Amino acid sequence: MKELKGIGVSPGIAIGKVFVLHSGESFNLPRRVITPELIPNEIARFEDALARTRTEILEIRRKLSDQIGRESSDIFTAHLLILEDRTMIEDVIEVIRNEKVAAEFAFTTVIQRYFQAFSQINDEYLKERISDIRDVGRRLMGNLCGEAKRRLEEFKEKVIIVSHDLSPSDTAMLDKSKVLAFITEIGGPTSHTAILGRSLEIPAIVGAERVINEVDNGMPVIVDGTHGVVIVEPDQEAIEKFTSEENRFIQLTGELNKLRDLPAETLDGKRITLAANIEFHHEAASVISHGAEGVGLYRTEYLYMNRSSLPTEDEQYDAYRKVAKAVGHHPVIIRTLDLGGDKFASILEIPHEMNPYLGWRAIRFCLTRKDIFKTQLRAILRASAHGNIKIMYPMISNIYEIRMSREILNEAMAELEREGKPFNRSIDVGAMIEIPSAALASDVLAKETDFFSIGTNDLIQYVLAIDRMNEKVAYLYEPTHPAILRLIETVIKNGHAHDSWVGSCGEMSGNPKIAILLVGLGIDEISVSPVVLPKIKKAIRSIRYADAQEIARKAMTFQTGKEIEQFLGEKLKDICRELADD
Ligand code: PEP
Ligand code: MG
Repeated sequence: MKELKGIGVSPGIAIGKVFVLHSGESFNLPRRVITPELIPNEIARFEDALARTRTEILEIRRKLSDQIGRESSDIFTAHLLILEDRTMIEDVIEVIRNEKVAAEFAFTTVIQRYFQAFSQINDEYLKERISDIRDVGRRLMGNLCGEAKRRLEEFKEKVIIVSHDLSPSDTAMLDKSKVLAFITEIGGPTSHTAILGRSLEIPAIVGAERVINEVDNGMPVIVDGTHGVVIVEPDQEAIEKFTSEENRFIQLTGELNKLRDLPAETLDGKRITLAANIEFHHEAASVISHGAEGVGLYRTEYLYMNRSSLPTEDEQYDAYRKVAKAVGHHPVIIRTLDLGGDKFASILEIPHEMNPYLGWRAIRFCLTRKDIFKTQLRAILRASAHGNIKIMYPMISNIYEIRMSREILNEAMAELEREGKPFNRSIDVGAMIEIPSAALASDVLAKETDFFSIGTNDLIQYVLAIDRMNEKVAYLYEPTHPAILRLIETVIKNGHAHDSWVGSCGEMSGNPKIAILLVGLGIDEISVSPVVLPKIKKAIRSIRYADAQEIARKAMTFQTGKEIEQFLGEKLKDICRELADD
Protein backbone atom coordinates (compact mmCIF):
# COMPACT_ATOMS: atom_id res chain seq x y z
CA MET A 1 0.00 0.00 0.00
CA LYS A 2 1.25 3.48 -0.82
CA GLU A 3 -0.25 6.94 -0.24
CA LEU A 4 0.32 9.77 -2.74
CA LYS A 5 -0.77 13.40 -2.56
CA GLY A 6 -2.16 15.58 -5.29
CA ILE A 7 -4.61 18.47 -5.53
CA GLY A 8 -8.19 17.35 -4.90
CA VAL A 9 -10.33 19.17 -7.47
CA SER A 10 -13.60 17.29 -7.59
CA PRO A 11 -15.08 15.91 -4.37
CA GLY A 12 -16.00 12.35 -3.48
CA ILE A 13 -14.37 8.97 -3.07
CA ALA A 14 -13.86 6.28 -5.69
CA ILE A 15 -12.48 2.80 -5.25
CA GLY A 16 -11.60 0.90 -8.40
CA LYS A 17 -9.01 -0.33 -10.88
CA VAL A 18 -6.50 1.78 -12.80
CA PHE A 19 -6.57 2.43 -16.51
CA VAL A 20 -3.52 4.34 -17.77
CA LEU A 21 -4.27 6.77 -20.60
CA HIS A 22 -1.94 9.01 -22.60
CA SER A 23 -3.07 11.97 -24.63
CA GLY A 24 -0.82 11.21 -27.62
CA GLU A 25 -0.02 14.85 -28.34
CA SER A 26 3.37 15.04 -26.75
CA PHE A 27 6.73 13.28 -26.89
CA ASN A 28 7.42 14.19 -23.27
CA LEU A 29 5.82 11.27 -21.55
CA PRO A 30 6.75 10.16 -18.09
CA ARG A 31 8.58 6.86 -17.73
CA ARG A 32 6.06 4.11 -17.03
CA VAL A 33 7.61 0.90 -15.77
CA ILE A 34 5.82 -2.39 -16.45
CA THR A 35 6.05 -5.84 -14.92
CA PRO A 36 8.10 -8.37 -16.98
CA GLU A 37 5.07 -10.43 -18.01
CA LEU A 38 3.64 -7.36 -19.78
CA ILE A 39 6.68 -7.01 -22.10
CA PRO A 40 5.25 -9.15 -24.97
CA ASN A 41 1.99 -7.23 -24.67
CA GLU A 42 3.73 -3.85 -25.03
CA ILE A 43 5.77 -5.08 -28.03
CA ALA A 44 2.57 -6.30 -29.67
CA ARG A 45 0.90 -2.92 -29.02
CA PHE A 46 3.83 -1.15 -30.64
CA GLU A 47 3.76 -3.43 -33.69
CA ASP A 48 0.03 -3.03 -34.00
CA ALA A 49 0.39 0.78 -33.91
CA LEU A 50 3.13 0.54 -36.59
CA ALA A 51 0.82 -1.46 -38.84
CA ARG A 52 -2.10 0.95 -38.34
CA THR A 53 0.10 3.96 -39.03
CA ARG A 54 1.47 2.34 -42.18
CA THR A 55 -2.06 1.65 -43.50
CA GLU A 56 -3.06 5.25 -42.76
CA ILE A 57 -0.05 6.70 -44.59
CA LEU A 58 -0.54 4.43 -47.62
CA GLU A 59 -4.14 5.56 -47.80
CA ILE A 60 -3.22 9.27 -47.58
CA ARG A 61 -0.52 8.80 -50.24
CA ARG A 62 -3.00 7.08 -52.55
CA LYS A 63 -5.60 9.83 -52.14
CA LEU A 64 -3.08 12.63 -52.65
CA SER A 65 -1.56 10.95 -55.65
CA ASP A 66 -5.03 10.70 -57.27
CA GLN A 67 -5.87 14.31 -56.46
CA ILE A 68 -2.65 16.26 -57.02
CA GLY A 69 -0.16 13.92 -58.61
CA ARG A 70 2.65 11.63 -57.57
CA GLU A 71 5.25 14.23 -56.76
CA SER A 72 3.32 15.86 -53.92
CA SER A 73 2.63 12.50 -52.38
CA ASP A 74 6.37 11.68 -52.22
CA ILE A 75 6.60 13.23 -48.79
CA PHE A 76 4.52 10.30 -47.55
CA THR A 77 6.94 7.88 -49.16
CA ALA A 78 9.60 9.45 -46.92
CA HIS A 79 7.28 8.94 -43.96
CA LEU A 80 6.87 5.27 -44.85
CA LEU A 81 10.64 4.83 -44.99
CA ILE A 82 10.97 6.21 -41.46
CA LEU A 83 8.22 3.92 -40.24
CA GLU A 84 9.76 0.85 -41.83
CA ASP A 85 13.26 1.61 -40.56
CA ARG A 86 14.37 -1.65 -38.91
CA THR A 87 16.90 0.07 -36.66
CA MET A 88 14.21 2.34 -35.22
CA ILE A 89 11.82 -0.57 -34.70
CA GLU A 90 14.46 -2.74 -33.05
CA ASP A 91 15.63 0.13 -30.85
CA VAL A 92 12.11 0.60 -29.51
CA ILE A 93 11.66 -3.12 -28.84
CA GLU A 94 15.01 -3.20 -27.09
CA VAL A 95 14.04 -0.29 -24.82
CA ILE A 96 10.74 -2.03 -23.93
CA ARG A 97 12.64 -5.26 -23.13
CA ASN A 98 15.68 -3.89 -21.34
CA GLU A 99 14.13 -1.00 -19.45
CA LYS A 100 10.75 -2.72 -18.87
CA VAL A 101 8.76 0.34 -19.89
CA ALA A 102 5.47 0.94 -21.71
CA ALA A 103 5.49 1.14 -25.52
CA GLU A 104 4.64 4.87 -25.56
CA PHE A 105 7.59 5.72 -23.37
CA ALA A 106 10.00 3.44 -25.28
CA PHE A 107 8.97 5.02 -28.56
CA THR A 108 9.38 8.58 -27.27
CA THR A 109 12.83 7.68 -25.86
CA VAL A 110 14.02 6.48 -29.25
CA ILE A 111 12.45 9.33 -31.19
CA GLN A 112 14.05 11.90 -28.86
CA ARG A 113 17.44 10.31 -29.65
CA TYR A 114 16.73 10.76 -33.36
CA PHE A 115 15.77 14.42 -32.88
CA GLN A 116 18.99 15.02 -31.06
CA ALA A 117 21.17 13.23 -33.61
CA PHE A 118 19.56 15.03 -36.57
CA SER A 119 19.73 18.46 -34.97
CA GLN A 120 23.52 18.10 -34.63
CA ILE A 121 24.05 17.30 -38.30
CA ASN A 122 25.34 20.19 -40.37
CA ASP A 123 23.19 19.54 -43.39
CA GLU A 124 20.07 21.59 -44.05
CA TYR A 125 18.36 18.82 -46.01
CA LEU A 126 18.85 16.27 -43.26
CA LYS A 127 17.86 18.78 -40.60
CA GLU A 128 14.55 19.21 -42.35
CA ARG A 129 13.90 15.49 -41.99
CA ILE A 130 13.26 16.18 -38.29
CA SER A 131 9.85 17.50 -39.15
CA ASP A 132 9.08 14.30 -41.08
CA ILE A 133 10.13 12.21 -38.11
CA ARG A 134 7.97 14.37 -35.84
CA ASP A 135 4.95 13.96 -38.13
CA VAL A 136 5.29 10.21 -38.35
CA GLY A 137 5.98 10.05 -34.60
CA ARG A 138 2.81 11.98 -33.79
CA ARG A 139 0.75 9.72 -35.99
CA LEU A 140 2.19 6.63 -34.38
CA MET A 141 1.71 8.00 -30.86
CA GLY A 142 -1.87 8.87 -31.77
CA ASN A 143 -2.42 5.23 -32.74
CA LEU A 144 -0.76 3.90 -29.60
CA CYS A 145 -2.81 6.16 -27.35
CA GLY A 146 -5.94 5.91 -29.50
CA GLU A 147 -5.74 2.16 -29.11
CA ALA A 148 -5.84 2.67 -25.34
CA LYS A 149 -8.93 4.86 -25.72
CA ARG A 150 -10.61 2.19 -27.84
CA ARG A 151 -9.80 -0.42 -25.21
CA LEU A 152 -11.43 1.85 -22.63
CA GLU A 153 -14.63 1.81 -24.66
CA GLU A 154 -14.62 -1.98 -24.68
CA PHE A 155 -14.22 -2.18 -20.90
CA LYS A 156 -17.12 -3.65 -19.00
CA GLU A 157 -16.35 -2.31 -15.53
CA LYS A 158 -15.82 1.34 -14.62
CA VAL A 159 -12.17 2.37 -14.22
CA ILE A 160 -10.06 5.07 -12.63
CA ILE A 161 -8.17 6.94 -15.35
CA VAL A 162 -4.55 7.77 -14.58
CA SER A 163 -2.81 10.06 -17.05
CA HIS A 164 0.20 12.32 -17.16
CA ASP A 165 -2.03 15.03 -18.57
CA LEU A 166 -5.58 15.07 -19.80
CA SER A 167 -6.34 18.05 -22.00
CA PRO A 168 -9.75 19.70 -21.56
CA SER A 169 -10.81 18.23 -24.91
CA ASP A 170 -9.69 14.71 -23.82
CA THR A 171 -11.56 15.13 -20.55
CA ALA A 172 -14.68 16.34 -22.33
CA MET A 173 -14.66 13.07 -24.27
CA LEU A 174 -14.58 10.84 -21.18
CA ASP A 175 -17.63 8.63 -21.00
CA LYS A 176 -19.01 8.95 -17.49
CA SER A 177 -20.51 5.48 -17.67
CA LYS A 178 -16.95 4.09 -17.97
CA VAL A 179 -15.03 6.33 -15.59
CA LEU A 180 -15.18 6.31 -11.78
CA ALA A 181 -12.57 9.04 -11.23
CA PHE A 182 -9.42 10.49 -12.78
CA ILE A 183 -5.94 11.39 -11.61
CA THR A 184 -3.38 13.43 -13.55
CA GLU A 185 0.25 14.15 -12.81
CA ILE A 186 0.13 17.78 -13.86
CA GLY A 187 -2.43 20.58 -13.70
CA GLY A 188 -3.49 23.23 -11.23
CA PRO A 189 -6.68 23.58 -9.17
CA THR A 190 -8.40 25.86 -11.67
CA SER A 191 -7.20 24.20 -14.88
CA HIS A 192 -10.11 23.42 -17.17
CA THR A 193 -9.43 19.71 -16.79
CA ALA A 194 -10.07 20.13 -13.05
CA ILE A 195 -13.23 22.12 -13.75
CA LEU A 196 -14.46 19.36 -16.08
CA GLY A 197 -13.95 16.79 -13.30
CA ARG A 198 -16.53 18.71 -11.30
CA SER A 199 -18.94 19.00 -14.20
CA LEU A 200 -18.66 15.24 -14.79
CA GLU A 201 -19.40 14.88 -11.06
CA ILE A 202 -16.67 12.31 -10.54
CA PRO A 203 -13.85 12.50 -7.96
CA ALA A 204 -10.71 13.97 -9.52
CA ILE A 205 -7.15 14.78 -8.50
CA VAL A 206 -4.61 16.78 -10.49
CA GLY A 207 -0.92 17.42 -9.85
CA ALA A 208 -0.30 13.94 -8.38
CA GLU A 209 3.35 13.95 -9.39
CA ARG A 210 4.84 10.64 -10.58
CA VAL A 211 1.61 8.70 -9.99
CA ILE A 212 2.13 6.89 -13.30
CA ASN A 213 5.27 5.26 -11.90
CA GLU A 214 3.34 3.82 -9.03
CA VAL A 215 0.49 2.16 -10.88
CA ASP A 216 -0.17 -0.37 -13.58
CA ASN A 217 -3.30 -1.21 -15.52
CA GLY A 218 -5.74 -3.13 -13.35
CA MET A 219 -4.16 -2.15 -10.02
CA PRO A 220 -6.66 -1.25 -7.26
CA VAL A 221 -6.60 2.37 -6.02
CA ILE A 222 -8.64 4.70 -3.86
CA VAL A 223 -9.19 8.28 -4.99
CA ASP A 224 -10.23 10.85 -2.40
CA GLY A 225 -11.06 13.83 -4.59
CA THR A 226 -12.02 16.00 -1.62
CA HIS A 227 -8.62 15.82 0.05
CA GLY A 228 -6.39 14.99 -2.92
CA VAL A 229 -5.27 11.59 -1.63
CA VAL A 230 -4.50 8.52 -3.75
CA ILE A 231 -4.04 5.12 -2.07
CA VAL A 232 -2.34 2.59 -4.33
CA GLU A 233 -3.05 -1.09 -3.59
CA PRO A 234 -5.02 -0.30 -0.42
CA ASP A 235 -5.22 -2.85 2.40
CA GLN A 236 -8.52 -3.90 3.96
CA GLU A 237 -8.27 -1.30 6.71
CA ALA A 238 -7.90 1.53 4.19
CA ILE A 239 -10.79 0.23 2.11
CA GLU A 240 -13.02 0.20 5.18
CA LYS A 241 -11.91 3.66 6.27
CA PHE A 242 -12.57 5.21 2.86
CA THR A 243 -15.84 3.33 2.40
CA SER A 244 -17.13 4.87 5.60
CA GLU A 245 -15.78 8.26 4.45
CA GLU A 246 -17.67 7.78 1.18
CA ASN A 247 -20.87 7.03 3.10
CA ARG A 248 -20.38 10.20 5.13
CA PHE A 249 -19.92 12.17 1.89
CA ILE A 250 -23.08 10.67 0.39
CA GLN A 251 -25.02 11.45 3.56
CA LEU A 252 -23.83 15.08 3.67
CA THR A 253 -24.66 15.48 -0.02
CA GLY A 254 -28.14 14.08 0.64
CA GLU A 255 -28.67 16.50 3.53
CA LEU A 256 -27.52 19.49 1.49
CA ASN A 257 -29.69 18.53 -1.45
CA LYS A 258 -32.73 19.06 0.77
CA LEU A 259 -32.08 22.80 0.34
CA ARG A 260 -32.74 22.45 -3.37
CA ASP A 261 -35.94 24.46 -3.53
CA LEU A 262 -34.99 27.06 -0.94
CA PRO A 263 -33.50 30.44 -1.91
CA ALA A 264 -29.90 31.44 -1.25
CA GLU A 265 -30.90 33.93 1.42
CA THR A 266 -29.06 35.04 4.55
CA LEU A 267 -30.70 34.72 7.99
CA ASP A 268 -31.62 38.41 7.88
CA GLY A 269 -33.17 38.21 4.43
CA LYS A 270 -30.50 39.30 1.91
CA ARG A 271 -30.98 37.37 -1.35
CA ILE A 272 -28.02 36.27 -3.43
CA THR A 273 -28.55 34.80 -6.87
CA LEU A 274 -26.91 31.39 -6.74
CA ALA A 275 -26.34 30.08 -10.24
CA ALA A 276 -24.43 27.22 -11.86
CA ASN A 277 -21.47 27.01 -14.23
CA ILE A 278 -21.91 24.56 -17.09
CA GLU A 279 -19.85 23.33 -20.02
CA PHE A 280 -22.44 21.29 -21.94
CA HIS A 281 -26.11 21.89 -22.69
CA HIS A 282 -27.06 18.50 -21.24
CA GLU A 283 -25.94 19.74 -17.82
CA ALA A 284 -29.08 21.89 -17.65
CA ALA A 285 -30.85 19.07 -15.76
CA SER A 286 -28.13 19.08 -13.13
CA VAL A 287 -28.51 22.87 -12.74
CA ILE A 288 -32.09 22.32 -11.65
CA SER A 289 -31.46 19.21 -9.56
CA HIS A 290 -28.80 21.02 -7.52
CA GLY A 291 -31.12 23.94 -6.83
CA ALA A 292 -29.47 26.68 -8.89
CA GLU A 293 -31.29 29.80 -10.02
CA GLY A 294 -30.14 29.62 -13.61
CA VAL A 295 -26.77 29.46 -15.32
CA GLY A 296 -24.20 32.08 -14.37
CA LEU A 297 -21.57 30.86 -16.82
CA TYR A 298 -22.09 28.68 -19.86
CA ARG A 299 -18.62 27.88 -21.25
CA THR A 300 -19.59 27.51 -24.89
CA GLU A 301 -16.14 26.63 -26.23
CA TYR A 302 -16.79 22.92 -25.65
CA LEU A 303 -19.23 23.06 -28.56
CA TYR A 304 -16.23 23.66 -30.81
CA MET A 305 -13.97 20.85 -29.57
CA ASN A 306 -13.41 17.27 -30.76
CA ARG A 307 -15.00 17.71 -34.15
CA SER A 308 -14.07 18.13 -37.78
CA SER A 309 -16.29 21.10 -38.66
CA LEU A 310 -17.41 24.25 -36.87
CA PRO A 311 -20.79 24.15 -35.10
CA THR A 312 -23.40 25.77 -37.32
CA GLU A 313 -25.62 28.63 -36.20
CA ASP A 314 -28.60 26.25 -36.01
CA GLU A 315 -26.71 23.73 -33.90
CA GLN A 316 -25.66 26.43 -31.45
CA TYR A 317 -29.13 27.95 -31.39
CA ASP A 318 -30.50 24.53 -30.52
CA ALA A 319 -28.04 24.02 -27.63
CA TYR A 320 -28.60 27.51 -26.15
CA ARG A 321 -32.37 27.28 -26.51
CA LYS A 322 -32.42 23.90 -24.75
CA VAL A 323 -30.61 25.34 -21.72
CA ALA A 324 -32.84 28.43 -21.64
CA LYS A 325 -35.98 26.29 -21.78
CA ALA A 326 -34.71 23.88 -19.12
CA VAL A 327 -34.17 26.65 -16.55
CA GLY A 328 -37.47 28.43 -17.24
CA HIS A 329 -37.55 32.09 -16.21
CA HIS A 330 -34.07 31.98 -14.64
CA PRO A 331 -31.19 33.70 -16.43
CA VAL A 332 -28.71 31.86 -18.67
CA ILE A 333 -25.48 33.77 -19.12
CA ILE A 334 -23.88 32.59 -22.31
CA ARG A 335 -20.20 33.35 -22.42
CA THR A 336 -18.97 33.75 -25.96
CA LEU A 337 -16.19 31.55 -27.26
CA ASP A 338 -13.19 31.47 -24.92
CA LEU A 339 -10.63 29.34 -26.72
CA GLY A 340 -6.88 29.57 -26.26
CA GLY A 341 -4.93 29.23 -23.01
CA ASP A 342 -5.40 25.55 -22.20
CA LYS A 343 -8.45 25.05 -24.42
CA PHE A 344 -7.99 24.19 -28.06
CA ALA A 345 -10.25 23.15 -30.87
CA SER A 346 -8.17 21.51 -33.59
CA ILE A 347 -10.70 22.64 -36.20
CA LEU A 348 -9.71 26.28 -35.58
CA GLU A 349 -5.99 25.64 -35.97
CA ILE A 350 -5.03 28.21 -33.35
CA PRO A 351 -1.22 28.10 -33.46
CA HIS A 352 0.65 27.03 -30.35
CA GLU A 353 2.09 30.15 -28.75
CA MET A 354 4.94 30.80 -26.31
CA ASN A 355 2.54 32.36 -23.79
CA PRO A 356 -0.91 31.05 -24.67
CA TYR A 357 -2.58 32.68 -21.66
CA LEU A 358 -1.32 36.08 -22.80
CA GLY A 359 -1.96 35.49 -26.45
CA TRP A 360 -4.64 35.13 -29.04
CA ARG A 361 -7.39 34.05 -26.66
CA ALA A 362 -11.10 34.50 -26.11
CA ILE A 363 -12.47 37.90 -27.22
CA ARG A 364 -9.18 38.69 -29.00
CA PHE A 365 -9.67 35.63 -31.18
CA CYS A 366 -13.35 36.44 -31.76
CA LEU A 367 -12.70 40.03 -32.80
CA THR A 368 -10.29 38.87 -35.51
CA ARG A 369 -12.48 35.93 -36.57
CA LYS A 370 -15.62 38.00 -36.98
CA ASP A 371 -17.25 35.29 -39.11
CA ILE A 372 -17.12 32.78 -36.24
CA PHE A 373 -18.06 35.40 -33.65
CA LYS A 374 -21.06 36.70 -35.54
CA THR A 375 -22.40 33.18 -36.14
CA GLN A 376 -22.32 32.61 -32.40
CA LEU A 377 -23.94 35.98 -31.60
CA ARG A 378 -26.73 35.28 -34.08
CA ALA A 379 -27.35 31.89 -32.44
CA ILE A 380 -27.44 33.44 -28.96
CA LEU A 381 -29.78 36.21 -30.11
CA ARG A 382 -32.15 33.74 -31.73
CA ALA A 383 -32.18 31.63 -28.56
CA SER A 384 -32.97 34.79 -26.56
CA ALA A 385 -36.51 34.61 -27.97
CA HIS A 386 -37.02 31.49 -25.82
CA GLY A 387 -35.79 32.46 -22.37
CA ASN A 388 -33.90 34.83 -20.13
CA ILE A 389 -30.57 34.84 -21.98
CA LYS A 390 -27.69 37.25 -21.38
CA ILE A 391 -24.43 37.61 -23.30
CA MET A 392 -21.04 37.76 -21.59
CA TYR A 393 -17.66 38.48 -23.17
CA PRO A 394 -14.54 36.77 -21.81
CA MET A 395 -11.08 38.32 -21.25
CA ILE A 396 -12.11 41.94 -21.67
CA SER A 397 -9.10 44.16 -21.09
CA ASN A 398 -10.33 47.54 -22.37
CA ILE A 399 -13.41 49.45 -23.49
CA TYR A 400 -12.57 49.09 -27.21
CA GLU A 401 -13.29 45.39 -27.02
CA ILE A 402 -16.75 46.09 -25.61
CA ARG A 403 -17.42 48.63 -28.34
CA MET A 404 -16.17 46.42 -31.17
CA SER A 405 -18.26 43.53 -29.86
CA ARG A 406 -21.27 45.83 -29.66
CA GLU A 407 -20.82 46.72 -33.34
CA ILE A 408 -20.79 43.08 -34.37
CA LEU A 409 -23.78 42.40 -32.12
CA ASN A 410 -25.64 45.29 -33.75
CA GLU A 411 -24.86 43.89 -37.20
CA ALA A 412 -26.18 40.49 -36.11
CA MET A 413 -29.35 42.13 -34.77
CA ALA A 414 -29.88 44.06 -38.01
CA GLU A 415 -29.48 40.88 -40.06
CA LEU A 416 -31.96 38.93 -37.93
CA GLU A 417 -34.43 41.78 -38.15
CA ARG A 418 -34.19 41.78 -41.95
CA GLU A 419 -34.68 38.01 -41.95
CA GLY A 420 -37.73 38.33 -39.68
CA LYS A 421 -36.21 36.12 -36.97
CA PRO A 422 -37.29 36.97 -33.40
CA PHE A 423 -34.83 37.88 -30.62
CA ASN A 424 -34.62 40.02 -27.49
CA ARG A 425 -33.50 43.45 -28.68
CA SER A 426 -32.68 44.63 -25.16
CA ILE A 427 -30.64 41.59 -24.22
CA ASP A 428 -28.25 42.27 -21.33
CA VAL A 429 -24.56 42.33 -22.20
CA GLY A 430 -21.90 41.85 -19.56
CA ALA A 431 -18.14 41.57 -19.24
CA MET A 432 -16.05 39.04 -17.42
CA ILE A 433 -13.62 40.80 -15.14
CA GLU A 434 -10.59 38.56 -15.19
CA ILE A 435 -7.77 40.83 -16.28
CA PRO A 436 -6.26 43.35 -13.82
CA SER A 437 -6.77 46.27 -16.24
CA ALA A 438 -10.49 45.47 -16.44
CA ALA A 439 -10.78 45.28 -12.66
CA LEU A 440 -8.93 48.56 -12.10
CA ALA A 441 -10.86 50.36 -14.82
CA SER A 442 -14.18 48.66 -14.07
CA ASP A 443 -15.77 52.10 -13.56
CA VAL A 444 -15.14 52.76 -17.25
CA LEU A 445 -16.47 49.37 -18.36
CA ALA A 446 -19.53 49.64 -16.12
CA LYS A 447 -20.82 52.58 -18.16
CA GLU A 448 -21.16 50.44 -21.27
CA THR A 449 -22.22 47.08 -19.85
CA ASP A 450 -25.20 45.73 -17.91
CA PHE A 451 -23.36 43.47 -15.49
CA PHE A 452 -20.00 42.04 -14.47
CA SER A 453 -18.98 38.54 -13.57
CA ILE A 454 -15.60 38.30 -11.88
CA GLY A 455 -13.61 35.42 -13.36
CA THR A 456 -11.29 34.82 -10.45
CA ASN A 457 -9.57 31.80 -12.03
CA ASP A 458 -7.89 34.03 -14.54
CA LEU A 459 -7.85 37.14 -12.37
CA ILE A 460 -5.71 35.37 -9.75
CA GLN A 461 -3.43 33.99 -12.47
CA TYR A 462 -2.81 37.44 -13.94
CA VAL A 463 -2.63 39.44 -10.71
CA LEU A 464 -0.29 37.05 -8.91
CA ALA A 465 1.59 35.94 -12.05
CA ILE A 466 0.81 32.28 -11.33
CA ASP A 467 0.10 29.90 -14.18
CA ARG A 468 -3.23 28.33 -13.20
CA MET A 469 -2.17 25.10 -14.91
CA ASN A 470 1.10 24.59 -13.11
CA GLU A 471 1.05 22.34 -10.03
CA LYS A 472 4.60 23.46 -9.13
CA VAL A 473 3.43 26.98 -8.30
CA ALA A 474 -0.05 26.00 -7.15
CA TYR A 475 0.95 26.79 -3.54
CA LEU A 476 1.23 30.47 -4.56
CA TYR A 477 -2.22 30.53 -6.14
CA GLU A 478 -3.93 32.30 -3.28
CA PRO A 479 -7.56 33.41 -3.72
CA THR A 480 -7.41 35.21 -0.36
CA HIS A 481 -4.32 37.26 -1.23
CA PRO A 482 -5.09 40.84 -0.08
CA ALA A 483 -4.44 42.12 -3.62
CA ILE A 484 -7.19 39.86 -5.01
CA LEU A 485 -9.69 40.84 -2.34
CA ARG A 486 -9.01 44.54 -2.86
CA LEU A 487 -9.60 44.18 -6.58
CA ILE A 488 -12.85 42.28 -6.02
CA GLU A 489 -14.00 45.02 -3.63
CA THR A 490 -13.15 47.66 -6.25
CA VAL A 491 -15.10 45.87 -8.98
CA ILE A 492 -18.18 45.47 -6.77
CA LYS A 493 -18.10 49.16 -5.78
CA ASN A 494 -17.63 50.33 -9.36
CA GLY A 495 -20.39 48.07 -10.64
CA HIS A 496 -22.84 49.24 -8.00
CA ALA A 497 -21.97 52.88 -8.56
CA HIS A 498 -23.17 52.44 -12.14
CA ASP A 499 -26.24 50.33 -11.33
CA SER A 500 -24.66 47.13 -12.61
CA TRP A 501 -24.97 43.93 -10.65
CA VAL A 502 -21.75 42.04 -9.97
CA GLY A 503 -21.29 38.28 -9.86
CA SER A 504 -18.41 35.92 -9.32
CA CYS A 505 -17.97 32.73 -11.35
CA GLY A 506 -14.43 31.51 -10.63
CA GLU A 507 -13.69 28.37 -8.64
CA MET A 508 -12.95 30.23 -5.40
CA SER A 509 -16.64 31.06 -5.02
CA GLY A 510 -17.21 27.30 -4.61
CA ASN A 511 -15.37 27.39 -1.28
CA PRO A 512 -17.95 28.13 1.48
CA LYS A 513 -15.64 30.28 3.60
CA ILE A 514 -14.75 32.46 0.63
CA ALA A 515 -18.37 32.63 -0.50
CA ILE A 516 -19.25 34.17 2.88
CA LEU A 517 -16.56 36.78 2.36
CA LEU A 518 -17.89 37.58 -1.12
CA VAL A 519 -21.38 38.02 0.31
CA GLY A 520 -19.93 40.37 2.92
CA LEU A 521 -18.20 42.36 0.19
CA GLY A 522 -21.59 42.90 -1.47
CA ILE A 523 -21.56 40.39 -4.33
CA ASP A 524 -24.98 40.03 -5.99
CA GLU A 525 -24.57 36.69 -7.71
CA ILE A 526 -22.40 33.62 -7.23
CA SER A 527 -22.04 30.98 -9.92
CA VAL A 528 -20.33 27.66 -9.21
CA SER A 529 -20.16 24.05 -10.44
CA PRO A 530 -23.46 22.28 -9.67
CA VAL A 531 -21.75 19.72 -7.39
CA VAL A 532 -20.52 22.34 -4.93
CA LEU A 533 -23.57 24.57 -5.15
CA PRO A 534 -25.59 23.04 -2.25
CA LYS A 535 -22.68 23.74 0.14
CA ILE A 536 -22.64 27.39 -0.88
CA LYS A 537 -26.38 27.65 -0.41
CA LYS A 538 -26.03 26.14 3.05
CA ALA A 539 -23.27 28.64 3.95
CA ILE A 540 -25.34 31.63 2.77
CA ARG A 541 -28.40 30.40 4.62
CA SER A 542 -26.38 30.00 7.83
CA ILE A 543 -25.20 33.59 8.22
CA ARG A 544 -26.62 37.05 8.82
CA TYR A 545 -25.72 39.58 6.13
CA ALA A 546 -24.63 42.06 8.79
CA ASP A 547 -22.22 39.44 10.18
CA ALA A 548 -20.87 38.61 6.72
CA GLN A 549 -20.17 42.33 6.22
CA GLU A 550 -18.33 42.45 9.52
CA ILE A 551 -16.29 39.36 8.58
CA ALA A 552 -15.37 40.97 5.25
CA ARG A 553 -14.40 44.23 6.94
CA LYS A 554 -12.14 42.41 9.38
CA ALA A 555 -10.66 40.12 6.67
CA MET A 556 -9.55 43.18 4.70
CA THR A 557 -7.40 44.32 7.62
CA PHE A 558 -5.10 41.25 7.56
CA GLN A 559 -1.80 41.38 5.76
CA THR A 560 -1.49 37.92 4.25
CA GLY A 561 -3.66 35.45 2.39
CA LYS A 562 -2.86 32.75 4.96
CA GLU A 563 -4.13 34.88 7.86
CA ILE A 564 -7.29 35.70 5.95
CA GLU A 565 -7.88 32.06 5.10
CA GLN A 566 -7.38 30.98 8.67
CA PHE A 567 -9.70 33.70 9.94
CA LEU A 568 -12.40 32.70 7.45
CA GLY A 569 -11.97 29.03 8.40
CA GLU A 570 -12.57 29.86 12.06
CA LYS A 571 -15.63 31.94 11.21
CA LEU A 572 -17.05 29.13 9.09
CA LYS A 573 -16.64 26.76 12.06
CA ASP A 574 -18.80 29.09 14.17
CA ILE A 575 -21.37 29.50 11.44
CA CYS A 576 -21.71 25.96 10.17
CA ARG A 577 -19.53 23.24 11.67
CA GLU A 578 -20.46 20.52 9.16
CA LEU A 579 -19.19 22.62 6.24
CA ALA A 580 -16.00 23.53 8.07
CA ASP A 581 -15.26 19.86 8.85
CA ASP A 582 -15.66 18.78 5.26
C1 PEP B 1 -12.43 32.44 -14.74
O1 PEP B 1 -11.41 32.74 -15.37
O2 PEP B 1 -12.57 32.63 -13.52
C2 PEP B 1 -13.55 31.80 -15.42
C3 PEP B 1 -14.67 31.54 -14.78
O3 PEP B 1 -13.39 31.42 -16.71
P1 PEP B 1 -12.53 30.15 -17.16
O4 PEP B 1 -12.28 29.31 -15.94
O5 PEP B 1 -13.33 29.41 -18.17
O6 PEP B 1 -11.29 30.74 -17.72
MG1 MG C 1 -11.40 32.85 -17.49
